[in-house]
Amino acid sequence: MEMDEVKREIRADGSLVKEATLKQVKPCLAAEGKIRVLMELDSELGDIIPVMVKMYPPGVVNYVKKKNILTLTIHDRIISLYPSGKISMNKTHDVEEAFEIVGELIDQINRAHDSGADGKDSVDLSRIGPMDIHSCLPGSNCGDCGEATCMAFAMKLLNGEQKLDSCLPLKEPWMQEKVRCLEDLLGEHLMETLGWSGY
Ligand code: SF4
Repeated sequence: MEMDEVKREIRADGSLVKEATLKQVKPCLAAEGKIRVLMELDSELGDIIPVMVKMYPPGVVNYVKKKNILTLTIHDRIISLYPSGKISMNKTHDVEEAFEIVGELIDQINRAHDSGADGKDSVDLSRIGPMDIHSCLPGSNCGDCGEATCMAFAMKLLNGEQKLDSCLPLKEPWMQEKVRCLEDLLGEHLMETLGWSGY
């Protein structure tokens, strides 16, 4: 399991983060046969982490404000981001997958950086409840998303268990008013974060 550091340029045009270095690989204690990895980015994340906290559904976020450490439960694993620029990740198949997922995180970090938000003025997803989301959904309880009701969909959306794209009626041209309602509530970045790819 011992290996030398592996440095890779992930996003040559990244506005804040361009490359990641694999620092450590160990057996994963939570999943036999998988690994846990420690990566280091080429930039510190102290200013970006409070912004990132608001960019994910509350159900997948654990934020230790005092230490400014963000832990995300995404991709069926636990990923922690530290102000120093380090990222730890468990339940990972191999090094290639680790770089792939870190690449996605780097995109999100650079988006947060480009948005110019400082963590105070960005929309705080933790303050948005299922009722807020529900008021912008079609409300027909049609079940196309796999949920029995629009309210169940709204709750799962905020838990990170559903994607906005799964509400197929929202893609219909006559639902533009509902989509605008969601855009006003969430903003463009959060719409993307919650799985909206557009019409
Ligand atoms: S697909 Fe959309 S409209 Fe239909 S139940 Fe799900 S959330 Fe409601």
